[in-house]
Amino acid sequence: MDVIAEKCSKVVTKFEIGRSHEGRLIRGLKISFKTGNKAIFIESNIHAREWITSSAATCIVMELLFSKDPDVRRTAAGIDWYILPIFNVDGFVFSQEKERLWRKSRRPLEEANTPESPECIGVDLNRNFNHQWGVIKSEPCTDEYGGSEAESEPEVKQLAQFIDTIPEGTLKIYIALHAAGQAVITPWAYTKEEQPKDHEQLMEVAKAFVEAAYPRFRTKYIYGPAAEILNVGEFCGTSTDWAYGVKNIPISLGIELPGKGRYKPFELPTESILRVSIELLDGLVGMVKAVGELGFIEKIPEPPKKEIKPKYERSKKVSKKKEGETEETPKWVTK
Ligand SMILES: [Zn+2]
Repeated sequence: MDVIAEKCSKVVTKFEIGRSHEGRLIRGLKISFKTGNKAIFIESNIHAREWITSSAATCIVMELLFSKDPDVRRTAAGIDWYILPIFNVDGFVFSQEKERLWRKSRRPLEEANTPESPECIGVDLNRNFNHQWGVIKSEPCTDEYGGSEAESEPEVKQLAQFIDTIPEGTLKIYIALHAAGQAVITPWAYTKEEQPKDHEQLMEVAKAFVEAAYPRFRTKYIYGPAAEILNVGEFCGTSTDWAYGVKNIPISLGIELPGKGRYKPFELPTESILRVSIELLDGLVGMVKAVGELGFIEKIPEPPKKEIKPKYERSKKVSKKKEGETEETPKWVTK
């Protein structure tokens, strides 16, 4: 990150969320090609074992800076990008060094530990945000434990504080990268009983991602409300519900990168990283364009249409019309 920020100092600035429970810095990069832009925030690797998310986020940074594709260039410049590649830094290091499939943070849970029970460690940070926190309960030693109260975890509390430092009304898109559901999930996660008031809009943007991500490798993402399409039922205290419901960020989506259906869904081979990342970039370009169409951000201009001239002109058939005969209206003309 330091190298990128130094080499591209005109457009890249570093930011810090704060420190994790174990004292690691939580850092990100902001990419801005011009002043006055609205912004997108991309949170990644909140779940420690979902390594593909930080690999893909890093790849997105490089593409936004160096891609020569005119569509990517316009998208990169049309909005400011806050990218946080590894949010759950403690959990990530633990998953690298000790337990590959670790999911939570690494705070020992003094609130849960009794002489009889073994020591439990870690909170599912994506259950600790201050929106409908605790409406669905999980026991401390489980993988989905949401903490002792909303924002009880230093990582989550500091992310919330950081979001507050971004000038009000600037942040229009919040994306949380996950694996491995191959899905774009919209609010709400905490209930199936009601839809957010902007349900249609959120679905439209999710669909735009899915359609844009498809053509290159024909990967089909599914999309829909989180509580309905992930087969895990309802879950609460998520960053995306919070971003939409508390921070009033109009477009808030979780993107579950591929991996499902594999024998080891969280352990994608290295050679999958580029494919997944470029596909994600395609999806994001389509998604940002759709958000522009909705008017939340500047409209991303279409690349100029290339006029394709046929090599050989076809000779036009001259129809011989008899006098008094009317021309038939073509079928595709709507009346
Ligand atoms: Zn996840």
